[in-house]
Amino acid sequence: MTYQELINRIVQLQEEGLELFNAGKSVLGKNILATHVGDYNGTQILIQGGIHAREYITSLLLVEMARNLHNNDLVHNGGIYFVFLVNPDGAEIALDGIDSVDCEITRNYLIMANNGSTDFSKYKANINLVDLNTNFDAQWGGGSQNVFCPAPENFVGFYPNSEREVQSLINFTLRTRPLLTISYHSKGNIIYYGFDGESNENIARDQSIGEALSESTGYPLVFTENSTGGYKDWCINTLKIPAYTIEVGDDSLPHPIGEEYLPEIYARNKNVPLIALEKANEYAKEIDFTLPNVQNRSNGKNNGLYERGYLARLQSAYERRGSYRRGNR
Ligand SMILES: [Zn+2]
Repeated sequence: MTYQELINRIVQLQEEGLELFNAGKSVLGKNILATHVGDYNGTQILIQGGIHAREYITSLLLVEMARNLHNNDLVHNGGIYFVFLVNPDGAEIALDGIDSVDCEITRNYLIMANNGSTDFSKYKANINLVDLNTNFDAQWGGGSQNVFCPAPENFVGFYPNSEREVQSLINFTLRTRPLLTISYHSKGNIIYYGFDGESNENIARDQSIGEALSESTGYPLVFTENSTGGYKDWCINTLKIPAYTIEVGDDSLPHPIGEEYLPEIYARNKNVPLIALEKANEYAKEIDFTLPNVQNRSNGKNNGLYERGYLARLQSAYERRGSYRRGNR
């Protein structure tokens, strides 16, 4: 698959009646494409993929999810945002090779950081050699695998939230106000939940919802250890909402996981968006927190949806009513 073919798959959704818009921009100025299914009123959740360059199988998975949910009118009581490819610059390098980088100095810099190799098929970072899923401001730099110098993977950046893709996803999240997020990665057939420093009540809430996702996918649910700076970590730490990382594809498969595995991966994950939305609705009731209508989107413009008081209100809603209480609906 080429980078253009991947983008075409996403853009194709427009011809099928889905509205595409920009969640933000990459370092090189590429659009970070997103769509929405369901209702803009009520509870929203956000599902993102392709934050690691080589993991374009997750973008294809999200395309498939959005297509099927759109065609089947299955989404009720809220809506689902899909951000298909958070790291388009990195995906282009992983899919089309290092020659796709126009600037010679950047190209040489990337090859040097890639241990002199011109094989970028296993590349994870963005064009700046930052591993975007370690760059978020959530105990940034504290992960056991973090590195502090530009590298094909695990480089946290020179400071938290330094990368344009990370800023884009944060701003998009603040505008769309999901009550739950899912980050798709490959590989391992596993679901991670929780974050160091999270309250016990919220851990119990996240575990309860995670068990439903685990049951549906057949992937084991595991508490996250020694991982910081991820989007999921930021959502839990800053927004206090349940957030999950789902790693698709068997661990025995080599990177990158090719499209031939998409049918099997889709079959296991196809119910995840609806279950996640249903669970988000349940806990939204528990905390009695009604989000204002979000008449969003279009054209990638920040059309004033970001409200300064949002975080404070979200957090105080949690504190006022306590966390999700299992079995009490
Ligand atoms: Zn990943």
